[in-house]
Amino acid sequence: MEKLTDSLQRFIFEDTPVRGSLVNLTHTLQLALNKQELPQGLKRALGELMAASALLTATLKMHGALVLQIQAKGPLKLLVVECSSEFGIRATVKWSGEIQDTQTLFDVLVQGQFMITLDPKDGGQTYQGIVALEGDSISTILENYMLRSEQIDTKIWLSCDGNTAAGMLLQKLPDTMNQITHEHDIDTWNRVGHLADTITDEELLQLPTETLLHRLFHEENVRLFEASHTKFYCSCSRKNVAGMLRMLGDEELKSILQEQGKIDINCDFCGAHYQFDAVDATQLFASEITPQSSKKIH
Ligand SMILES: [Zn+2]
Repeated sequence: MEKLTDSLQRFIFEDTPVRGSLVNLTHTLQLALNKQELPQGLKRALGELMAASALLTATLKMHGALVLQIQAKGPLKLLVVECSSEFGIRATVKWSGEIQDTQTLFDVLVQGQFMITLDPKDGGQTYQGIVALEGDSISTILENYMLRSEQIDTKIWLSCDGNTAAGMLLQKLPDTMNQITHEHDIDTWNRVGHLADTITDEELLQLPTETLLHRLFHEENVRLFEASHTKFYCSCSRKNVAGMLRMLGDEELKSILQEQGKIDINCDFCGAHYQFDAVDATQLFASEITPQSSKKIH
């Protein structure tokens, strides 16, 4: 059986409230890493957080974007991953100073905060949750967050070897009313959790989904759904950059132009370069105040 890369696959345990998903990011990760030179430990952290973003997105009924962010003092400043409901993922890291390849994310992170943002594109409210970083792995941080903020039992396994990132998520949907079903559900949850805990990094990264599910849960009744494709996708555009510049204001832009002759903006996620000269800058504001009908000059 061939390994399906760059995919997300949902599955359920039939007649139980336990559901799950598996993700593999290969080209998606490599394209994200192409844009930045990273020490090994940060590469792994970025890959794991990207895999986690896809797994969490798969649990949401939302049209929009999920943003996972780690902000910290110390050598690591910022780690951001954004995943759209279509599994278009982008990611970036900001860091400074010396970081050895042997250092993990947690060696270079001081006073970290974890932030999760849900940004619906269909007009819904933006949601943001901020918590202190609790745990010594990205999966533990997310499990704690899901339990404390969302009251949802979640288990997450993540792995990244620098070329591929992979992950698995199990989640128990909120309780049913019935006492007997309730106990049965908890039994199922505990049992599949223990079975899933036997997974190795190698299996998570390399085994095809069907083989992996069979290896872990061959005595359970698992239904696997069709795979969704994941890809590297950056939502930046000249229009968005123009909007950002407009917010800086006319005065600020004029002073940058006076100093540098032009305004250069590089996208941290994909490396795209946007340039605005004095004429472009004037148009930024002109287009805002001139009504469309004024185009008729005659
Ligand atoms: Zn971009």
